Amino acid sequence: MDGANGKFEFKAFNDCGLSAESLFSGPSGYTYDDLILLPGHIDFAASEVVLDSKFSRNIRLKVPFVSSPMDTVTEHKMAIAMAMHGGIGVIHYNNTIEEQAEEVACVKRYKNGFITEPKTLSPTDSVSKIDLIKSQFGFSGVPITENGDMHSELLGIVTNRDIDFLTDRSTLIRDVMTKASDLTVAKESCSLAEANIILMECKKAKLPVVDEKFQLVALMSRSDLLKNRDFPLTTKDDKKRLLVGAAIGTRPRDRERLEALVAAEVDAIVVDSSQGDSVYQLEMVRYIKKTYPHLDVVGGNIVTCRQAMHLIAAGVDGLRVGMGVGSICTTQEVCAVGRPQATSVYRVSQFAREHGIPVIADGGISNTGHIAKALALGASTVMMGSMLAGTEECPGEYYFQEGFRLKKYRGMGSIAAMSKGSGKRYFTETGGVKVAQGVSGAVVDKGSLRKFMPYLTQGLKHGMQDIGAKDLPQLNEMRIKGELRFETRSASAQKEGGVHNLFSFEKAHPY
Ligand code: 5GP
Repeated sequence: MDGANGKFEFKAFNDCGLSAESLFSGPSGYTYDDLILLPGHIDFAASEVVLDSKFSRNIRLKVPFVSSPMDTVTEHKMAIAMAMHGGIGVIHYNNTIEEQAEEVACVKRYKNGFITEPKTLSPTDSVSKIDLIKSQFGFSGVPITENGDMHSELLGIVTNRDIDFLTDRSTLIRDVMTKASDLTVAKESCSLAEANIILMECKKAKLPVVDEKFQLVALMSRSDLLKNRDFPLTTKDDKKRLLVGAAIGTRPRDRERLEALVAAEVDAIVVDSSQGDSVYQLEMVRYIKKTYPHLDVVGGNIVTCRQAMHLIAAGVDGLRVGMGVGSICTTQEVCAVGRPQATSVYRVSQFAREHGIPVIADGGISNTGHIAKALALGASTVMMGSMLAGTEECPGEYYFQEGFRLKKYRGMGSIAAMSKGSGKRYFTETGGVKVAQGVSGAVVDKGSLRKFMPYLTQGLKHGMQDIGAKDLPQLNEMRIKGELRFETRSASAQKEGGVHNLFSFEKAHPY
């Protein structure tokens, strides 16, 4: 140690664990839980940690979080929430081509604070329909358009004030509505801040947003005004729309799906396969890069450098790493292949880095510590299924079981998901015997991503601070120079690292 001029050079002490390279040079594969990082030196606050990272060659995120293309995890609500908080969602493809393209389009259309799918009626509907909407959804203002749908000319609005004292509920809406000529409206081009000012000044409960043909494109609500927070980390494209990815399979018919997704202006395609090193996937990657050279393509899943080499040669812009490690996954049991995730992430990331290709560590993340470990081992982002399952933004309804509020979470290789079509990911032949590589289960209610994402982000920042890395480039540099020190943990060390020796405890998240 040279402290002569107050500067201390890094030196590996005898008690100081192993560099990543020494750790992974042995014959065993390691899981995240097998490892622990030794603390570094802190000279910054956790709030100063910057989590900018790359999802793929050309897509940058503000936080390194990706939601998995699973039918119980990512549809438009999840993808919108992920992008608003700085990450990205990948829309699943266990649906029709039209449905998936519409999910993508929904994300691209979304504007924070603007209700893009309000309930609308036509002037020839009766007031009783307003009563129904009010009782079902609690909305008190319904825009009226020429044909009763969005993107049709705005003719007026009906609010409580228009119908409070009306006794005949079969009266037609056109006879009671406040006409468009008496409404304050906002133009489609206005920003959230401008629309909020109009809403504040006009003192109305609802503000319709129209395009240049006076067709309804959105609605703003006074009651949402205070909730319309700014999301400074939002990931956007160059037209300021949210970023979104979508998954496709490797079959010829997936080219049609690809075309529809491109038409919906998807930002990245994830070619989805449980074993990514196949001629089918390589062909699909080459086809996408040739047909849409500007579209980023992520290939996978893989766990070895050889697999990575094939996909990189085919032209991928990102690699998805993880095989048989997802929480709902039985691939390692059923097929005897896979690799412990910490080893996969380290090995593939080392190789991919030489080619400038970011790695997505996919599966097996069940706490913020796992996220910090994946990034420390060289991943650029983490993809999560079970971590995000059970949030409000996931597809599916909550239900109660034994006093717990739950949502379904299932593997895309489970019999239930495959029966709906996702067997392609697992090379299931049509009409053949289905061999499940995943299970179907449930997870507890985690509330909304509005609270959960900031919790994950802050947890990761604390981890980075303890390691002594202010951002991901520094974290990578520390690993490459051997300054990041790891130790393996015995079973009892893992036990010691968790809560123990208590009669009972509550592991509640503080959000
Ligand atoms: P989790 O975050 O729940 O641990 O893992 C999610 C990941 O597991 C997904 O992103 C995907 O790569 C993988 N996965 C999803 N469904 C299945 C399945 O049924 N079988 C297997 N082997 N992997 C799955």
